[in-house]
Amino acid sequence: MTPYQSARRLGGSGDVWLNANEYAVSPSFDLTDRTFNRYPEPQPQAVIEGYARYAAVQPENVLVSRGGDESIELIIRAFCELNDSILYCPPTYGMYAVSADTCGIKAKTVPLTADFQLDLPQIKANLDGVKVVFVCSPNNPTGNLIKRSDLLELLQITAGKALCVVDEAYIEFCPEASLVSELQNYPHLAIIRTLSKAFALAGLRCGFTLANAELIGVLQKVIAPYPLPVPVSDIAAQALSPQGIAQMCERVAEVIALRADLQKNLENLPLVEKIFESEANYLLFKCQDGQKVFKALWEQGIILRDQHKALGLQNCIRITIGTAEENLRVINALKNM
Ligand SMILES: *Cc1c(COP(=O)(O)O)cnc(C)c1O
Repeated sequence: MTPYQSARRLGGSGDVWLNANEYAVSPSFDLTDRTFNRYPEPQPQAVIEGYARYAAVQPENVLVSRGGDESIELIIRAFCELNDSILYCPPTYGMYAVSADTCGIKAKTVPLTADFQLDLPQIKANLDGVKVVFVCSPNNPTGNLIKRSDLLELLQITAGKALCVVDEAYIEFCPEASLVSELQNYPHLAIIRTLSKAFALAGLRCGFTLANAELIGVLQKVIAPYPLPVPVSDIAAQALSPQGIAQMCERVAEVIALRADLQKNLENLPLVEKIFESEANYLLFKCQDGQKVFKALWEQGIILRDQHKALGLQNCIRITIGTAEENLRVINALKNM
């Protein structure tokens, strides 16, 4: 097995970190609960109720875990046995494959089409033995949304056969695209969310699964007894207060404006061949020699995410939207190449 190639692991000695889709500056919180001698609540009520209010679902539809990543693993552990498979559509988020691997579960892949959409006929033809289908929208690393009509068709195709997990880690950047309103129509739909991206709390390790109560009940059976440390749930509850959500929305508007500026500046560089449309807090772009560009920036302390190993993304680089200053440093470095 190979460990997940996390952005931190690949960090080198950079000082401009635009490789992990984090927010560029930390929000500030004070701890309000200093009860450290007792075990925490298994599913802290303030966090569950806060997220349910924010996501417009009932508390019984919410599970909180150590990041969205734990949700991916819980779903595989709860629903797959030795000879079952998961299915995912590359190029996409790396953790579906890593979690299947560490759980000893096979993974089938059906590549996205040339325009990064689902190949529904191929998915349909490959569902034998598949218990969970993972789809990421907006997709990481490409940035695009999967068409809503295709997601609904996927839910039809998989009904009675497999769970359909829609990873909405970046949904705050395009909230109208969420499938949350479909939960009532599809008992086999699960949605993954996180505080790591728009909420600017990647260091907190806090994520969510949204699904029908019965499915949440199954995940409760396999989750560790006390997944969230007291300081984590304390801060998460504050981040989900009306004020915390208002700050998140301001952050999202700011990132979207900076993304438009960065996109325009990249378009003016002869070195950049193509920039893909993004609905998230990052941009994927293609160069003639992507690895050379990646390395040249790396040597100047600017750490982006090289995508050359991802299916169909030769010469592509993913850049997280940073501060205006960080984005400018990237543009100037590219201009001087
Ligand atoms: C960041 C991310 C997650 C979850 O991240 P956590 O930090 O574990 O909450 C899940 N899916 C995708 C596609 C992501 O980019």
